Amino acid sequence: MSPGRIPGPPGADGAQRPQHVRLASLDRQADHELATRTRRVAFVYVPVLLLLTFITDLRNAAPWAAAAVAALYALTGWLRLRMSLSFETRYDVDPHAWRRRFALVTLVPAAAWGLLVPVTGLALGFGWTFLVCLLATAGIAAGAVSSLSPRLRVLRVFVSLLLLPTAATLGLSGHGREIGLAALLVVYWVQMLVLARYFHAELWSGLRKGAELERRAAELADANEKAHAANRAKSEFLANMSHEIRTPLNGILGLTGLVLDSDLDAEQRELLADVQTSGETLLRVVNEVLDFSKIEAGRLEMETAPFAPTGLVDSVVKPLRLTATRRGTRIRVSIAPTVPPWLAGDEHRLWQVLTNLVGNAVKFTENGCIDVEVALEGRRADTPMISFSVRDSGIGIEPAAQPLIFKAFQQADGSTTRKYGGTGLGLAISSRLATLMGGCITLSSTPGRGSTFCLVVPLPEAQAPVADAARAHPALVDDTLAPAGAPGRRVLLAEDNEVNAKLATRLLGKLGCVVTWTGDGDGAVAAWANGTFDLVLMDVQMPGTDGFQATARIRAHEAAAGRPRTPVIALTAHALDGYRDRCLAAGMDDYLTKPLKAVALEAMLESWLPTALSRTVN
Ligand code: ADP
Repeated sequence: MSPGRIPGPPGADGAQRPQHVRLASLDRQADHELATRTRRVAFVYVPVLLLLTFITDLRNAAPWAAAAVAALYALTGWLRLRMSLSFETRYDVDPHAWRRRFALVTLVPAAAWGLLVPVTGLALGFGWTFLVCLLATAGIAAGAVSSLSPRLRVLRVFVSLLLLPTAATLGLSGHGREIGLAALLVVYWVQMLVLARYFHAELWSGLRKGAELERRAAELADANEKAHAANRAKSEFLANMSHEIRTPLNGILGLTGLVLDSDLDAEQRELLADVQTSGETLLRVVNEVLDFSKIEAGRLEMETAPFAPTGLVDSVVKPLRLTATRRGTRIRVSIAPTVPPWLAGDEHRLWQVLTNLVGNAVKFTENGCIDVEVALEGRRADTPMISFSVRDSGIGIEPAAQPLIFKAFQQADGSTTRKYGGTGLGLAISSRLATLMGGCITLSSTPGRGSTFCLVVPLPEAQAPVADAARAHPALVDDTLAPAGAPGRRVLLAEDNEVNAKLATRLLGKLGCVVTWTGDGDGAVAAWANGTFDLVLMDVQMPGTDGFQATARIRAHEAAAGRPRTPVIALTAHALDGYRDRCLAAGMDDYLTKPLKAVALEAMLESWLPTALSRTVN
């Protein structure tokens, strides 16, 4: 028998059994099959025997013998039923003992029956009773060929015990008719053995195939799991890499901006402007790869906050209007009056999807028209389904390319990158974001006539947000910490990346601030404790003590020493993925996203240190 290890038959306790027991051998499978098959016929011989007793002379001639054999059948049937029902527990304790006992309770009644028939013939003659008994014997042998086929040896002995005593008795009787019957019985016995071998081979081949299938299924599941793990690792790697690339890139862009602010001749300015444009394009690509890999790695979190759809559409369309006008294209916006004025959702992600759709419309439309429409599509379980449709009169998309463009890195035709730029990631990201928001993006397009992309998302109605409580701080802070007319604001900058720190220091310097720089969280806490600062700019991700921990320690010191609260502004590249709440929860007051922009920094300082800044950045 093959010793191959395969998963055992499903049992009630299969899931709980330890692996070494659950993964049983083919032998175990065969014995389990034996137990199941014989369970079904455990008591079938008892009624057969009783019937025989009543239709033959057994009733008068040997009632006690018939009753004894019937009782034996009942007893062994009951024993086999018990062995079958308790197979899962008993077999695993000692399979050899189970097999021996099973063979015993199977073969003893066969031997008893095999003797009863010739005794009947000898006692009552080879007439009606004998023939009916012989017929029943043939039936029992035929039934056993199927039910005992998992174990060939037991089956062979069983059939032989049933048939050979009768055949021998008939053969030894010396009468021609009986000898003929004996020969017939021997032929039948041989046929039963041939069939037994065949059924047995079939069953074992099935078991082996099943085992092989299960082995392959397990291998496939394993390979599948490995492929998923590799894919996750790839996405993690991409997410980390693009984050790492973004940091120096932000530095390059920020410093380029600073140099552009200085005195340059026309050629230098033009060259540097090209550097900035290329850097911004590269940053966009890196951001797209980062977003895509974050989605693939399941690391993208959605936020829910109230927003005004009018403001959202305005912030999407405004920056693209200039490019559209240069291309001779008009952008028209309409928002249906049925759209609630405030909705709850992830405004940034909606902005991202819509910017991609409207940006594409601008990119692929020349001297045409783009319509951006917001409407209430209906309601799903009382939640408004809001549709944002972007219709352009641009180049359109071939029907064959339409399903492809939602896949990553796919463009409608190969020349798109050369002619219009882009990575082919925008729509892949947009459609995944739409799905994450519980919605979808549909497309209808006619080549040469234009395209309509429609984003439909469930967005619950929301209340207009009350003014952010954190925003109430600046006036207080201003009165206590920075009396109007103070010459320079003291800003503590905690930033581990030197280029970013240089950029922030320059920008803060231009805004008239006096900057103290520290490269880690511990340094930030120490510098804050030993100095007086009007504001702290705290990088979130720093080696050792990070920005969250450093802020928590500053807040704890303030509470213990009764010091007035210093505004702490987080510097983060992640502000849009749930970081705002995290920053506020960590005791920070606001956040700025990297790359630091002069305008954003100035607005932030004005908001938290509202006395006139000594100089304004261009
Ligand atoms: P890309 O960064 O290349 O624009 P997208 O995923 O946003 O990537 O778009 C994929 C492709 O779909 C585009 O390259 C373009 O071929 C096609 N496409 C998208 N929007 C439009 C549109 N409004 N008109 C024509 N083609 C479009």
